[in-house]
Amino acid sequence: MTTHRLINRRMAIDEMGKAGLAVVVFGTAACSDGGVDATTIAPGTTNNAAPGTNATAGSTTTPASTTTSGFASTTGAAATSYQRVNLQFVSAYILYRGGEAALVDTGVGGSAAAIQAALGEAGLEWGAIGHVILTHKHPDHVGSVDEVMSQASGAALYAGAADIPEIASATPPQAVGDGDSVFGLEIIDSPGHTLGHISVLDAAAGILVTGDALNGTGSGVGPPDPGFSEDMAVAMDSVLKLGGFSYEVALFGHGEPLLEGASSAVAALTVG
Ligand SMILES: [Zn+2]
Repeated sequence: MTTHRLINRRMAIDEMGKAGLAVVVFGTAACSDGGVDATTIAPGTTNNAAPGTNATAGSTTTPASTTTSGFASTTGAAATSYQRVNLQFVSAYILYRGGEAALVDTGVGGSAAAIQAALGEAGLEWGAIGHVILTHKHPDHVGSVDEVMSQASGAALYAGAADIPEIASATPPQAVGDGDSVFGLEIIDSPGHTLGHISVLDAAAGILVTGDALNGTGSGVGPPDPGFSEDMAVAMDSVLKLGGFSYEVALFGHGEPLLEGASSAVAALTVG
């Protein structure tokens, strides 16, 4: 069961620092009436919010945003969080740990301003991004890589080895895959959509950034689109693989994030 509450952004950020395991989501781009931030506390988690944090004061002045953020803090570990940069038909994601961040994908060309705006909402600037991870070579994911790398000038760039020859970035990506860890994030080879496709697991926060190895369907999760995938048999092997990890939240390159029970839903795609 999910508990829906209304809180404002500042209060949600304050909650990040509290102990307990909670996933907080606010500021959905789909919320066209604007101004009210919905908060979701994931099932089975502990909400340690102080009394009175369900007020809505201030939220009506929040400007329209293209981002959705989720903040998860894990008992005994540094606070982690994510932010969706909704670039309409594709999304990039920023994964935060304290005042540092990793960017997963860069959107189509011209997306740097939206990414910068998302950082700004978190009170950060480009210098906070130390890592840029490209899930795959397609232009809706690597399109702004040069803009991003010129702004986040201290950042390292990563991609899957098989895709790197077709990524035309001024900064050569470092090859990463199974067994590699970037910024405490686990890289998972998930080929098929492209042969060098990788996904990113934040095991501590229970978040999988899928790239296009999976698609959001609106209410759930589906396999990659056969029309845009290089090898669907391999892609379905990757779906099976991704269903074997444990995470509550799945963040897709395309489609609405799945905020509850994500790994179970992914595992169900390959049953029978
Ligand atoms: Zn895509």
